[in-house]
Amino acid sequence: MSEKVEKYVTCPKCEQQVMTEIVCSLNTENDKDARSLIFDEKIFRWKCKKCGFQTKLFHPVLYSDIKNKFMVYYIPKIERKQISDERLELEFSDLSYVKKRVVASVNSMKEKIVLFEKNIDDLTLELTKSAVSEVVAKSTSRTVHSGYFMSMDEDKLTFQYFVGSDRRSYIQTISKEVFHRSSEIVKKYFSRENQKPGFLNINDVWAKEALKKYKSNK
Ligand SMILES: [Zn+2]
Repeated sequence: MSEKVEKYVTCPKCEQQVMTEIVCSLNTENDKDARSLIFDEKIFRWKCKKCGFQTKLFHPVLYSDIKNKFMVYYIPKIERKQISDERLELEFSDLSYVKKRVVASVNSMKEKIVLFEKNIDDLTLELTKSAVSEVVAKSTSRTVHSGYFMSMDEDKLTFQYFVGSDRRSYIQTISKEVFHRSSEIVKKYFSRENQKPGFLNINDVWAKEALKKYKSNK
């Protein structure tokens, strides 16, 4: 079942305290609409019971898809590389085959869900995305702020990056060769990453550090 908590939220408009039910855990086995609640962001919609003001309330939520062997824990703006949650560790100690990730943004959460549903390794994907972002930075002469997986087919991969001060969308398609090379690096140097306990933050920061480590060990 989905887990809920009740919490007082201060309305940004009328400034009154409003008792709010917050869904803090979703499970695809029991909640048929779990996936759409995340993808249309309905789970973050909030309406003030006192004045009717509507906004989005970004709160932590754990998304579990045991059939596809993954759990994604969204904790807004988290920067830590790894988190452990004693209660979750105890509850899911028999689920060592499940990939556990922590993410700082809703977009990253959606990306992880899409990747793991397609059984794409996110370590490999992040290394690839990081390498391609350097290409994008060079070809656009702009700063790359973030990038997300869009699609993968037999011989190519497509990413969407956000570049420049106006965070303009930039689509980059590349040969799958880069992905295969990244996969070799992961197999050789980072195969133990998934055995670490807790929820791992596998993002652009991880990829940059991993590439640095790889280059110094080569
Ligand atoms: Zn209000």
